[in-house]
Amino acid sequence: MQNPFDVLVVGAGYAGSVCARCLAEGGKRVRVLERRPHVAGNAYDRLDEAGVLIHQYGPHIFHTNDQKVYDWLSRFTQWRDYQHRVVADIPDEQGGRLRYPVPFNLTSLETAFGAEEGKRLGEKLMAAYGAEKKVTILELRQNSDPEISALADYVYEHVFVHYTMKQWGQKPEDIDPNTTARVPVFLSRDDRYFQDTYQGMPLKGYTPMFEKMLCHPNLTVELGVDALERLKVTEGGVTVDGENFPGAVIYTGQADELFTFRYGPLPYRTLDFRFETLPQDDFQGYGTVNYTVDQDYTRITEFKHLTGQTLPGKTTIVKEYSKAYGGILEEVPYYAIINPENNALYAKYKALADAIPNLHLLGRLAEYKYYNMDAIAGRALALAEELNK
Ligand code: FAD
Ligand code: UDP
Repeated sequence: MQNPFDVLVVGAGYAGSVCARCLAEGGKRVRVLERRPHVAGNAYDRLDEAGVLIHQYGPHIFHTNDQKVYDWLSRFTQWRDYQHRVVADIPDEQGGRLRYPVPFNLTSLETAFGAEEGKRLGEKLMAAYGAEKKVTILELRQNSDPEISALADYVYEHVFVHYTMKQWGQKPEDIDPNTTARVPVFLSRDDRYFQDTYQGMPLKGYTPMFEKMLCHPNLTVELGVDALERLKVTEGGVTVDGENFPGAVIYTGQADELFTFRYGPLPYRTLDFRFETLPQDDFQGYGTVNYTVDQDYTRITEFKHLTGQTLPGKTTIVKEYSKAYGGILEEVPYYAIINPENNALYAKYKALADAIPNLHLLGRLAEYKYYNMDAIAGRALALAEELNK
């Protein structure tokens, strides 16, 4: 029997869903297999028992400079204008707590060092790097000026080292420099976490946006299906349900798992999310508060600030605890640990995939990369457009 579809997509997160929709619109008959009981991948959101809209796999804020991606996604959702603002919450010298904006900026400087001294240091930094410039903590630590160097040490100690140790189990200088570069020191009074042209939250949530995206006559989605029980990869190609499958396969799961961990597992960090619903309107006044010096968790997110949901007397927060991924069923491989050794291991799996005709690895897991939502949506569109030619 011939397969009644042209393309098989494994995974219904951004990579799989965007690609699937674009291919379906190109006239291809597409089947999407998703292991979880829901679409949207790690961007999945839902109402919790208290009726609060939560992000089950951690807080997701959409932001992009890519107008094409923004316009494309806007076909499936309206947006709530939301500018993410984050503060670091640290113990002060009087035994209380201090909060200032992250990325560490001119306002943070004045909060940390007092108005006058903070202003003077800010001017010195701007003279060295330029106003409105972003300087990574690793760059700042290279500065030989004693005052700037002392300041770099302060920011390293109060913003980066403990948070990074919690998140990665390693120091900032030992992880991929692009990771801490995501949150540079910002010589500005702009206290937003992102400066992208487009930012916001899907008005009704991510899940409805994905449901709309996946609703197309050429598209079939099967939930709760582990594709690796249906699909086999051999050097000659791919079989689906035991039959040779000549069409394209877009695989967005883990690359190591696809090849039964032949060269050993790719390392990841996983997270424990601990949700709490509290009997109050507002817990912390911000979408996200980072605990950059103490506590075992890295950050607390309060969803109502992100989503704008009004629900008097109730709020849900989530605390994030990071640890090494152990490969067990209850754990999710959230973050690739990018370093030369792991990249080399990934390259071996990629080489296996490249040798199989029509097999495409796409997404945060399949490509072993630290993609934001917009980046992977952009890549998915590009791949689908190529395959539609
Ligand atoms: P995923 O969302 O992981 O989707 C892959 C899907 O494939 C999953 O649903 C999985 O179940 C399925 N799958 C895997 N294997 C199989 C199989 N064998 N059979 C069937 N299905 C399978 N990005 C931002 O832009 N802004 C943010 O604020 C942001 N916050 C984040 C916070 C956290 C805690 C994390 C971990 C990530 C965050 N991201 C954020 C990144 C964002 O989650 C990713 O860019 C995006 O989810 C990547 O989409 P994807 O499709 O590649 O992967
Ligand atoms: N980081 C930090 N302190 C902070 C915020 C970020 O040390 O207050 C570092 C940390 O290493 C983190 C990285 O910068 O993993 C990237 O932060 P981002 O908020 O982009 O992480 P994500 O939201 O992707 O988990």
